[in-house]
Formats: sequence, C-alpha cells, structure tokens
Amino acid sequence: MFEKLKNLKTYEAGKPIELVVREYGIKPEEIIKLASNENPYGPSPKVIEAVKKNAKNMHRYPDDSFYELKEGLSQKFGVEPKNIVIGAGSDQVLEFAIHGIAPKKVLMAGITFAMYEIYSKQVGAEIIKTPSITHNLDEFYELYKKHKPEIIFLCVPNNPLGECLDAKAVYDFIEKIDNDTLIIIDGAYQEFASYKDKNKEIKPKDILKYKNVLYTGTFSKAYGLGGMRVGYGIANEYIIQNLHKLRPPFNITTLSLTAAINALKDQEWVEMGIKNNFIEMEKYISFAEERGIKYFDSFTNFIVLFIENSTEIAKALLKKGIIIRDMASYGFSAIRITIGKPEENDKLLKILREIS
Ligand SMILES: *Cc1c(COP(=O)(O)O)cnc(C)c1O
Repeated sequence: MFEKLKNLKTYEAGKPIELVVREYGIKPEEIIKLASNENPYGPSPKVIEAVKKNAKNMHRYPDDSFYELKEGLSQKFGVEPKNIVIGAGSDQVLEFAIHGIAPKKVLMAGITFAMYEIYSKQVGAEIIKTPSITHNLDEFYELYKKHKPEIIFLCVPNNPLGECLDAKAVYDFIEKIDNDTLIIIDGAYQEFASYKDKNKEIKPKDILKYKNVLYTGTFSKAYGLGGMRVGYGIANEYIIQNLHKLRPPFNITTLSLTAAINALKDQEWVEMGIKNNFIEMEKYISFAEERGIKYFDSFTNFIVLFIENSTEIAKALLKKGIIIRDMASYGFSAIRITIGKPEENDKLLKILREIS
C-alpha cells in the first residue's frame, strides 16, 4: 500500500504564526512573518468589506460556474471564460494537470517550486531536473530531447530563487516542443515581474494558440488572498475541458469567490503593493552590497541572500519573532525573505546587521 509515496516527503509550509506564539511566547501582533511570500498589506479594504457583507451566505455553496470571477479574469487577460479553470489556489490547478496526465517523466529547473515534484511523485513520475539551479532553457531542451517528458514546468519568475526568464525566450522554447508534452507556465509572480520589466510579461492570451501550454496564476501573492485559496489556469479549450474533469464541485468557498471577484476590481491596491515591494527590496539589496553578500536579482516579492550560517541566522530571527525561510536544505547557505512593510523590513535588517 502507498508504494508510490515511499520516497515522498510531506511539504513543509512556512512556519505559521501560531507555532512561534506557542514556542517562544511572543505576542501574535509582534510577530513578523516574511516566509511565505504573502502580501504584507493584505487584501484591499474593499475586499474585506465585500466578504463581511456576504458572510451571511456562508451556508450556501458558491456559484460553481464561477461566472463573475471568470468574467473578471476574461477582461483582465483578454481571454474567454471557456479558457479558464478555477482552483483552490493555483496549486490545485497544477494538481489537476499533473494527475490528469499522470506523467511517467516530468522536467523542471534544478531548484524550483516544490509542488511540481510532490504532485508528480504522487502519480509515480520520474523527476528530471536541469543541472543549473535557475532556469536554463538550453539544458531544458537537451533533457527534453533525451527523455521526452510529458510535462515541463517553467516557473516564470521562479520560486524560491526569484530569477525570471524573458517572455520571448519562453515563447521560442514553446515552439521547439512537440504537442504531446504539456508546458506549464507558472505565473504566480507575473504581476511583480511584468511591473519591473516588460520583457518578462507573459500574456496568457498569447499561449491560447498552442495545444500544449497551460498558464497558471494566483490570488495568493499580489492580490493578498493567500488564506482564501483562489487560483486559475488559462489554456485552450481542450486543456481546460480536461482539467474540469478533475475539478471537484465547489472547490473554492463562497467567501473566497467573493474575495477574488472584488480583488480584481481594485487594481490600484494591487499596484500600490507591487510598487512598494520593489522600493522596499532596495533596502535588502543595499544590505547585501554593503556586506558583499551574493543575491539573485529578484522579479518577485522575495529576495534570496546567500548569507553565511543561514540556519543559525534564521533561528536567531525566529527567537525575536521574525519568520523567514532558511534554504540550507537545498545544500547551500542562504535565506529567502519575503519583502514586508517598511517597518517590518527595517526591524529585520536592524537585527540582521547586529547578528551577522
Ligand atoms: C505561491 C505559489 C503558487 C501557488 O500558490 P496558491 O496559493 O496555491 O495559489 C504557485 N506557484 C508558485 C511558484 C508559488 O510561489
């Protein structure tokens, strides 16, 4: 029983605030959580208002056609509702695709989003990774020719390292891949990347013409709705119809649906968060430069600093109520910090300057 899961580790999510409260006795309101790439500003106040107003309907299942949400996404991306599937986070859309195909082999970057590997192993797939830790499309192509994987994952920009392929390079790569390999473009941080550099912008409507490309996006990052679990997949109708076969009914909640619909209506709020993200990121870059610490140019809402003794540093920060991500498990000393609010970043950097 469970033979296929033998080598599968349970996904370790960023430490929840509750755990730090229990372990270190720090007041919840004093904890600074910069470990899971959440939006530090939260959702738009208009979203909170709409959810409150609709709370009385939580005994009702949501509209399972997700009509209004798909209309909103259609307008945002210039696609049609039939090109969209909604998931409980984009994680669930990834799950639909991977389980629906049940690949024998999948291909991904040396270090990339952990869920690709987890869902793939659940169906017994062999995981093939490029030697480079960041996305190197020449290596991808070599390994594609050698192994003919049924799925290729491109995380654009990449979590947890923050680097981002140019859109043109992604489009050129797609052209070289046969139709029987699905290419999944994970755009969880596309809002950040396309703000910073237009050359990184992947437009979902541009991939509809391909029979074998799925774009995924989420409300968890730029839109500040991580706790609501709403994501989406965009692709040609054939792919979407098949993903729907794996979708359980009512897979997001009534209030998650309200939140997502209203989040799309307040783009100003989202832009404020993205703008501040890159302003605040400069503080970490200054710190790295002044200390000669290597870092990746980041197109996301987090930054990776190749700092010595990352595990000790993460622990010392945790004792002071600051949660970040230690990357020692990848085999090098680095920390991943989600960019927070100005006062959060200032406090973290002050402590970092003291202890490192
Ligand atoms: C956060 C994240 C997701 C999905 O998050 P959901 O909350 O499930 O929508 C997908 N891919 C990457 C790379 C992410 O960082």
